[in-house]
Amino acid sequence: MHDFAVIGLGAIGSATAAELVRRGHAVVGFDRYAPPHTMGSAHSDTRMIREAWYRGSPYVPLVRDAYRSWAHLERTSGRSLVRTAGALMMGPSDGRVFAGSPLRGVAQPDTDDLFLSAEEVAERFPWLRPDPGTIAIYEPGAAILSLEACLEATLEAAEGADLRFDEPAIEWSASASGVRIRTERGEYAARRLAIAAGAWTPQLLPGLILPLEVERTVQYWFEPAGEHAGALAEGPAWVWELEREGTWYGFPPTARGLKAGMHFQAGRGTDVERIDREVGNAEAEALRRLFARYAPGVAGPLAHAAVCLYTNTPDENFILDRHPDHSRIAIFAGGSGHAFKFLPVLGGLMADLLTDEPPSRDLSPFSLGRFR
Ligand SMILES: Cc1cc2nc3c(=O)[nH]c(=O)nc-3n(C[C@H](O)[C@H](O)[C@H](O)COP(=O)(O)OP(=O)(O)OC[C@H]3O[C@@H](n4cnc5c(N)ncnc54)[C@H](O)[C@@H]3O)c2cc1C
Repeated sequence: MHDFAVIGLGAIGSATAAELVRRGHAVVGFDRYAPPHTMGSAHSDTRMIREAWYRGSPYVPLVRDAYRSWAHLERTSGRSLVRTAGALMMGPSDGRVFAGSPLRGVAQPDTDDLFLSAEEVAERFPWLRPDPGTIAIYEPGAAILSLEACLEATLEAAEGADLRFDEPAIEWSASASGVRIRTERGEYAARRLAIAAGAWTPQLLPGLILPLEVERTVQYWFEPAGEHAGALAEGPAWVWELEREGTWYGFPPTARGLKAGMHFQAGRGTDVERIDREVGNAEAEALRRLFARYAPGVAGPLAHAAVCLYTNTPDENFILDRHPDHSRIAIFAGGSGHAFKFLPVLGGLMADLLTDEPPSRDLSPFSLGRFR
């Protein structure tokens, strides 16, 4: 019998497996595909890690832990994982980014953040054209994570675990003595089980009514163009709340191109099995119009587009808790479009739950009980 089983070896499951191995346990893990793959939430080149967005919330210590953990993984793996590029958060002063949570506590004296007006943004980053009245926080320490390298390094750190790719778990059962997992290829026994199946979580927890919504979201890569292409690569990334169009984000170009997309596309909630994986021309045109209006001349021809999945909770906080009926089972779900940056930290917290260690951080914001 293994000590622990992990279902789902994407972002959080791979980190859970790695942390359990680090603590000296025998681990078996399953994924329905071979990570890093393009069917879930953890693909597409880059992810942002930034702190200002979370000011005044319980996520701040987690972001700080995450920066330290990524630096450690970078050293131990010998891979390049994190690049400081800065991030701009922009929007109208009465919009969600600034007036609502989670930025409301942003005026922190111990940070390097700069508050910029629309004119100051355009002066500092001349490829950006914010509307008058837009305000911005520039966070110079924010960074870009190289997603596939991060995931590969995490899976390598789980060396010694029996990681079984292309082997979907079909069902599990729990008893007083342990858990059993039935997959498409066999049956496995373990003392305890982590479920971190991203958008597929409801299929593995049919007895729990979880308020999760799977959202289709598209990332686009354009060839960088124009006189600012070089400067663009230096940063910053941006998250830009636009009054009519929604929240637009963009990344400094990588070898794959200048990546951009929309954060939370209302009305696109869907079942994971029914996701439309094709990207239509009209969708890409909407992004082009944003570039034409707010960052003219920097986006050349469309190089690539990819569908990615958000799994959202109603309050956009994660679920990280024990199964309410089976204390041998820990669940991570509801990444809500922002979990990747925390990957090593969330893996550690999952391992704490599974090994009965006191969690290193307060888990109450992530409890399942908040939905009852
Ligand atoms: C477009 C986009 C942009 C994002 N940007 C950011 C960002 O800038 N910063 C940030 O921090 N976060 C960001 N995120 C969010 C982040 O990527 C996700 O929150 C995170 O990847 C969720 O991790 P997960 O482990 O829950 O899911 P996943 O990484 O999808 O992993 C779930 C795994 O479970 C496996 N699985 C499912 N069912 C089974 C089964 N029955 N048996 C075995 N395996 C199974 C799947 O194959 C998959 O590999 C973004 C997400 C998207 C889609």
